Amino acid sequence: RYSTAAAYENPIKPPVSVQYDKLLIDGKFVDAASGKTFPTLDPRTGEVIAHVAEGDAEDVNRAVSAARKAFDEGPWPRMTAYGRQKILLRFADLIEKHNDEIAALETWDNGKPFEQSAQIEVPMFARLFRYYAGWTDKIHGLTVPADGPHHVQTLHEPIGVAGQIIPWNFPLLMFAWKVGPALACGNTVVLKTAEQTPLSALLVSKLLHEAGLPDGVLNIVSGFGPTAGAALCSHMDVDKIAFTGSTDTGRIVLELAAKSNLKPVTLELGGKSPFIVCEDADVDQAVELAHAALFFNQGQCCCAGSRTYVHEKVYDEFVEKAKARALKRTVGDPFKAGIEQGPQIDGEQFEKILKYIRIGQDAGATLETGGDRHGTKGYYIQPTVFSNVKDDMPIAREEIFGPVQTILKFKDLGEVIQRANNSIYGLAAGVFTHNLDTANTLMRALKVGTVWINCFDTFDATIPFGGYKMSGIGREKGEYGLKNYLQVKAVVTPIKNPAW
Ligand code: NAD
Repeated sequence: RYSTAAAYENPIKPPVSVQYDKLLIDGKFVDAASGKTFPTLDPRTGEVIAHVAEGDAEDVNRAVSAARKAFDEGPWPRMTAYGRQKILLRFADLIEKHNDEIAALETWDNGKPFEQSAQIEVPMFARLFRYYAGWTDKIHGLTVPADGPHHVQTLHEPIGVAGQIIPWNFPLLMFAWKVGPALACGNTVVLKTAEQTPLSALLVSKLLHEAGLPDGVLNIVSGFGPTAGAALCSHMDVDKIAFTGSTDTGRIVLELAAKSNLKPVTLELGGKSPFIVCEDADVDQAVELAHAALFFNQGQCCCAGSRTYVHEKVYDEFVEKAKARALKRTVGDPFKAGIEQGPQIDGEQFEKILKYIRIGQDAGATLETGGDRHGTKGYYIQPTVFSNVKDDMPIAREEIFGPVQTILKFKDLGEVIQRANNSIYGLAAGVFTHNLDTANTLMRALKVGTVWINCFDTFDATIPFGGYKMSGIGREKGEYGLKNYLQVKAVVTPIKNPAW
């Protein structure tokens, strides 16, 4: 049923080489203090792409010192807003110039289709930096009409040294969502990339320095969570932490921040987002959108539409067509044109997804298609569809983070609202209906940070993103994303001659 293209055995040679594999501290690429390195792997084969410097607590100390100095003494927070803007805009231009090189490195390290990297993610990265560049000279304080003879104003100031920890599913976009607003507001940054995908951040950081970023403003420590990541969260000289990843790790991050200097924390965590197909749905369109909502990026999206609720009137037709669509999905070497799905990120995720598929079968869900690895090499998984899924099954409650669609049946709106909200998560929801009243009811009733109506995964730089409940704290992107990186200072002066 699945074409096991020879490309798996003979992976296409990526049209790029690894130039940067060290830590970036104070504007220089340096070895880890311990001299240690770790391998980053090609998910198509499990083979080593490069050995990358492995930062730990000592390197985090060096990086934080550099960021501290750049904040306390350097030009970045003191530069005019227009000065910062010009550097960020030049950076976006350089990203566009190097689009395909950056995209190839991202695909090699992560396994996502090259067309997706080159046509969607790198352009979105540039767009996001242009968006936040635009904000640099539009960050205003207020004049406050306080009681009494006082002149009161607020200053919106950068927080200081921002610590940022990102995951492996969108290495470039997570870099942009975090570094873009932090720099626009005049902060300095220590970024810890995910151990599975350290490469693209180092390449774009080189370009950011070429665009004129002063040394020490952005520091990158590649390495592991319990060592480098935890050291950053606990550091007394880090003024803020922004984290994206699993809910379990988010809890640790918050605890470490609380136990050290009470630095504010923003978290973007897991999800189990409902995608609701209503009775008036055009089934073909709904199938296509629900398919994309789940399978995009190999199913490795925090907001994946991973609980597909379908009204009983269209359920049977939907299941049959969802299965046919999954069977048509093109799986293979992500460097090949026309490929929709590459390998999962690594062996750990690969095993976890296959385990969930077995759990689904054991729990009595109907395996419509897929259910096994794809090919014989690397971390490819067959597009998998389960029907007859019940709300209490683990595959309907827990984040699988893979290409596994779970389809559930519902009867009426009140019932589906209650079931959709019955989750520890509240990241996003999809609604498919052309009935305005239904759309309005669902949009207000769903306890989630984003509702996509007749669309999904729309991620423009202007749109805030974040979660209700255990999906996180705070919002990234858009104007809301600036708040994470600004302090508000109230300034009060007496007015000597109130008559004037
Ligand atoms: P993770 O949360 O462990 O990793 C995310 C980032 O946190 C990485 O940079 C990691 O090094 C760092 N980290 C890990 N432990 C840390 C610690 N003790 N202190 C500070 N930082 C730490 O996620 P994972 O292990 O890569 O994936 C596990 C599951 O998380 C996935 O199966 C998926 O369900 C979920 N996930 C969610 C997202 C998301 O975007 N919400 C992204 C990746 C993974």
